[in-house]
Amino acid sequence: MNVIFMGPPGAGKGTQAERIVSEFGIPHISTGDAFRSAMSQGTPLGVEAKKFVDQGLLVPDEITIGIVRDRLAHDDCKRGFLLDGFPRTISQAEALDEILSASGRGIDHVINLTVDRGLLLARLTGRRICKSCGSTYHVLFNQPKAEGVCDKCGGSLYQRSDDTEEKVGTRLDEYVSKTAPLLAFYSEQGKLREVDGEQEIEAVTGQIDSLLRGQA
Ligand code: ADP
Ligand code: AMP
Repeated sequence: MNVIFMGPPGAGKGTQAERIVSEFGIPHISTGDAFRSAMSQGTPLGVEAKKFVDQGLLVPDEITIGIVRDRLAHDDCKRGFLLDGFPRTISQAEALDEILSASGRGIDHVINLTVDRGLLLARLTGRRICKSCGSTYHVLFNQPKAEGVCDKCGGSLYQRSDDTEEKVGTRLDEYVSKTAPLLAFYSEQGKLREVDGEQEIEAVTGQIDSLLRGQA
């Protein structure tokens, strides 16, 4: 099963991806995570990506597409994969179709999580992430049992440097101008399914699960 999660920053893609990949046993491919990991290691990719990520701008297509092309060639993607945060431009979507069709594959489902822009700011500025395992929390909406500590692994929680009010504005503008047009691209292919991302986390997971199992 080859799946894409779409939706603006803060819609809940990462939160839902954690749950869905553990249920379906497929790898979670997040280009945002790939950039953050390269940035923290200071690799050439990380140094280049940082120039854009720190400003809330999209990283250029040629860099981003290369990462996904390499990742999709790994054996663990043969049984399927969940793309989170990719594609984010029409060029990325076209490149993805080419990469997959060259190996006889295609996208099965595109799930679009919808959340009102006003709520996204609160979601993003309150987001906290585990340094060790990457699990996502929220200071109000999805609190860990002990403040600043990951429930799953005991790691400490941090705030992403691009989850500030100023950067969130730029990121949402990037989404509207460059990523939202992709919804029509996948709708025309008959693959787009909408899920109300403002529901409780469990309810969103339940709906995605039903869609992926073809029961909705
Ligand atoms: P994305 O990966 O789409 O940017 P995240 O999954 O990181 O979004 O979610 C953004 C923030 O909103 C996180 O702090 C997360 O805990 C919180 N969140 C995610 N889904 C929900 C939900 N359904 N209700 C309330 N808060 C949520
Ligand atoms: P995310 O973790 O998905 O919120 O992504 C964090 C940042 O990484 C974005 O604001 C972009 O700077 C960069 N990024 C992630 N995915 C992509 C992509 N598909 N195309 C371009 N830039 C991306």
